[in-house]
Amino acid sequence: MKLTIGHIYPDLLNLYGDRGNIQCLRKRLEWRGIEAEVFPFCFGDLIDFRKLDIVMLGGGSDREQEIAAGNLRAIRQEVHEFVEDGGVLLAVCGGYQLLGEYYRTSGKIIEGMGILDIYTEWKPERIVQNVILQSPLFSTEVVGFVNHGGRTYIGDYMPFGTVKFGLGNTEHSRQEGLVYKNVIATYLHGPLLPKNPVVCDYLIEKAMQRKYGSNVILKLLPDTEEQRAQKYMME
Ligand code: GLN
Repeated sequence: MKLTIGHIYPDLLNLYGDRGNIQCLRKRLEWRGIEAEVFPFCFGDLIDFRKLDIVMLGGGSDREQEIAAGNLRAIRQEVHEFVEDGGVLLAVCGGYQLLGEYYRTSGKIIEGMGILDIYTEWKPERIVQNVILQSPLFSTEVVGFVNHGGRTYIGDYMPFGTVKFGLGNTEHSRQEGLVYKNVIATYLHGPLLPKNPVVCDYLIEKAMQRKYGSNVILKLLPDTEEQRAQKYMME
């Protein structure tokens, strides 16, 4: 069995260790004896989404996001089809914002891919902090680090989690990120997946079930060190 992972624009969208999400996916697949092939797609590379099982879109500065957005809009149809077909997509911070209609920064509007009916508005006070969430998807908390100027308005989408510590999609919302089909979109860097192996396994399981059938269940891994690290971060 094998999963193929696409890392979109590691040269532009890769803040606060987002690349660690790819390493975590690869490692946790290998530990279970599942082959993992990773394709880093740099800016301008052609991407065939039909060959991908998991896609990661990381965060970036406003400047890098603006550069990336032009190309991403050109492939919005392919991304849309991938998402609607149940493709697994992890979008972090800048990547999350670019799934939406637009991100209005201090001086301009960066048009997103419009895959999700959400939008983001910039404010001068950046939100920089550690965050703890309770997600309806998991029995353990999710921890992460955020650093962004945008505030994202998600309408009726299901949030990724409720904030227990820190701030969420906006400073007035207790909701963080969103879940749509097999998309997890969140502001949490960290990187997210090594800090929260349950989130990594959730994405892997969804991708395995899409490819090999809904009865696939992942082997549990011991995760003693990971759990100890998470407890430390929580405290
Ligand atoms: N540039 C965006 C913002 O500041 C996203 C930042 C990020 O990806 N951390 O809101």
